[in-house]
Amino acid sequence: MPDRRANFSPVQGDFDVCVIGSANLDVVARCARHPLPGETLLGSSLAEHAGGKGLNQAVAAARSGARTVLVGAVGNDAAGVSLREVLTADGIDSSYVAVRNGATGRAIIVVDDAGENTIVVIPGANQTVEVPSELPRCRVAVAQLEVPMRTVIAAFAAARALGAKTVLNPAPAVDLPAELLELSDVVVPNQHELELLGGAEHLLNLGVRALVVTLGASGVDVITAAGRTHVDPFPVDVVDTTGAGDAFCGALCARLASGHDLHDAVRWGAAAGALATTVTGAVPAQPTAEAIQSLLDVT
Ligand code: ADP
Repeated sequence: MPDRRANFSPVQGDFDVCVIGSANLDVVARCARHPLPGETLLGSSLAEHAGGKGLNQAVAAARSGARTVLVGAVGNDAAGVSLREVLTADGIDSSYVAVRNGATGRAIIVVDDAGENTIVVIPGANQTVEVPSELPRCRVAVAQLEVPMRTVIAAFAAARALGAKTVLNPAPAVDLPAELLELSDVVVPNQHELELLGGAEHLLNLGVRALVVTLGASGVDVITAAGRTHVDPFPVDVVDTTGAGDAFCGALCARLASGHDLHDAVRWGAAAGALATTVTGAVPAQPTAEAIQSLLDVT
């Protein structure tokens, strides 16, 4: 991976986007069909990729031009070393990624010939992510739910105290404490997560100010107390939708951090999400600001 941020030297402790989230090593086995319980099959290939929603969204934000820091944790194993290298390659500050005695988070993925997958996630060090005594100063703080809920709540409270905007990507969907909703400026679920969280009206009634609902190939809905607006999807040749949601969220945060309004940031995120579907994998698929701008220019 080339260092796209080689000329960038962040002001110490001053970031556009602070991601509080997970970092995993994904191990992907391909096999003609899924094994039945108790069965052993021979697969055809094995690949390892950096993943985890936190790491993916940090890469997306950085490639959108944001000075980005990840607050996370890895284990003191080879996987932890390689994930930190992935962050560094994109100019992401990894000094708030704690190294724990134990295993780095992993996702074991089996993909069959029909493209259906099964996934087992072993959270490992992600379960130990804590808010540092001083959250890095940032304009936007974004979190997902692959790290402890109490950490996300504490991070958003600290971010608010620093004057940062907070963006919650409630994935995987679990019951959201009222305290967290009150601390979230923008909540970004996909359609499935929105249903599990009780629907848009329910969330607005609980005090969510802005809901940004990603609809895959159907685009994005932005829902506030003032009403609903729709952003059309950008037309692209889809190869693999892995990482589209993370591309959307990271790019959206980068754009919000550079002072753009929510509608502009959602269009930027939608272009990033669309571009992410044109490349296989999550990290390799995250588009640069130049690619996003080119798609916006021609559409
Ligand atoms: P998730 O991966 O979290 O389910 P989505 O599939 O909703 O997220 O994708 C996030 C965003 O990426 C969508 O709202 C859309 O803007 C863009 N996107 C995803 N799939 C496509 C597609 N097939 N064509 C164009 N844009 C897409």
